[in-house]
Amino acid sequence: MAQDIFAQYISNLQRITAPTKETAISDREILMNIQNKLDSLSAPSADRFCQDSDISVIGGKIVLPDHGVLESDLHIKDGKILCLGKLNVNAKRTVNAQGKYVIPGIIDPHVHLGLFADLEHELATETKSAIIGGVTSLGCYFGGQEPHLDKFFEINNSVEQNSHTDIIPHLVIGNKTQREQIYDYVHKLGVSSFKLYLNGIPGMISDVDDGFILDVMDEIKKSGKKCLICAHAENRDIIKRSYNKVKEDLGDEAKIYDWTRTHPEIAEEEAVIRLSYLAEKCEVDVYFVHISSQEAIQRLERIKRKNPYVHVETTSPYLSISRDMYNFDRDRNLLKMEPPFRDSEDVEELWRAVKNGTVDCIGTDNVTQTLSEKNSNGTLWNAMAGYPALGTHLPVLLHEGIIVRGLSIEKLISALTKRPAEVFGVYPRKGTLLPGSDADIVLLDMNMEKQVHASDLMSRSDFSIYEGRTLKGWPIMTIKSGQIVAENGQYVGTHCTGICLKR
Ligand SMILES: [Zn+2]
Repeated sequence: MAQDIFAQYISNLQRITAPTKETAISDREILMNIQNKLDSLSAPSADRFCQDSDISVIGGKIVLPDHGVLESDLHIKDGKILCLGKLNVNAKRTVNAQGKYVIPGIIDPHVHLGLFADLEHELATETKSAIIGGVTSLGCYFGGQEPHLDKFFEINNSVEQNSHTDIIPHLVIGNKTQREQIYDYVHKLGVSSFKLYLNGIPGMISDVDDGFILDVMDEIKKSGKKCLICAHAENRDIIKRSYNKVKEDLGDEAKIYDWTRTHPEIAEEEAVIRLSYLAEKCEVDVYFVHISSQEAIQRLERIKRKNPYVHVETTSPYLSISRDMYNFDRDRNLLKMEPPFRDSEDVEELWRAVKNGTVDCIGTDNVTQTLSEKNSNGTLWNAMAGYPALGTHLPVLLHEGIIVRGLSIEKLISALTKRPAEVFGVYPRKGTLLPGSDADIVLLDMNMEKQVHASDLMSRSDFSIYEGRTLKGWPIMTIKSGQIVAENGQYVGTHCTGICLKR
């Protein structure tokens, strides 16, 4: 039965004419591959196929990540994408998407919640901020020293009660007990991504040595499942040396501009070389979070040609802020981050790596906090690292990637949807716009220009690192699980639909 549905879908695609180059999908093979993958999903039954829908999105430019853009209609039923194509459908609600792009809901694979406020509180506020910004799934890091088995049930409940987005949980492995429970995390909790800090934060996050890394790789192999080590990759000894040197030299006179020197690029480059080597030797996949420097990204470009175990992430802040843009009076220590912001050359190298595919995924590394929690008015040394970034993630990348640098929309959107879904094992349920996928959908107006104000972003935070910046290209509607939950920057949903995605 499913086969017929997909055959009809493909033949509909063939009938859609291609008025411009950007709307042409030429590679039928690629679509057939996707179709085969989708066959494993539960498809809507044939008699319901494209007869009536809950929502039909009409006349938009539909972005299939990596493959291209086609002008078509998209139909939603029971929280899933029912079909695409200009078909005669009886829609309960019609959304006119003329002139707008229609993209899969954004998956931000790198988010921290519950660090400066309760998890349930931040799930409620920050996932709303995500939704108005077009982000419908979050990869969330859960840390602490306790065994995760005890706490996970609580997290799962809290997500179902408070979250407006779906959550892909990643568990931090920082001690022996957590390490020894990896098998249970995989088989009892459905988690397959584990975080290691090669450089931690003294007093807050413990870092791990190479022996511990090898032990974790052994545990992952014992689990019998394909898992991922998400690594904060910086050499802790190099950082300790540089940090102490800058602190001794400048003391309390140190400015945010000097912070970059406390985390030199060789620390990041050395750590990616070392961990890529261990990954290849042990045949365990690694995922480098928040790569920030040109040295590390160029090195990873070369490593990835030969080493299939290596995956790479950078963040929207690293693709949009360099320290030559700092205004010391305004920014003070607001931009303190680990790794630090670097120079404009690094930003351009990271964009080059997005274009050539070295970067698999783009996240935010969101850490929600208020100005007073960040303590940004004190000395550089006492300010906390991090910032909220969920509400600005997509518009910043649309502006910097597509408007400023001319990246194709299907390439950028792939690093925000399809690639994170593939890397974290939730494709094709998430990360694409094909029949059977979850109906998480965003409409984009690439002509809309707007200034960023923290007060519009619905976060519990009171600042944005983009305050006052004008961006072109904004999400104007978000659909999550088949419900319209945001329109024109306002949250319009009625209830939480978030779940923890099991893998
Ligand atoms: Zn992080």
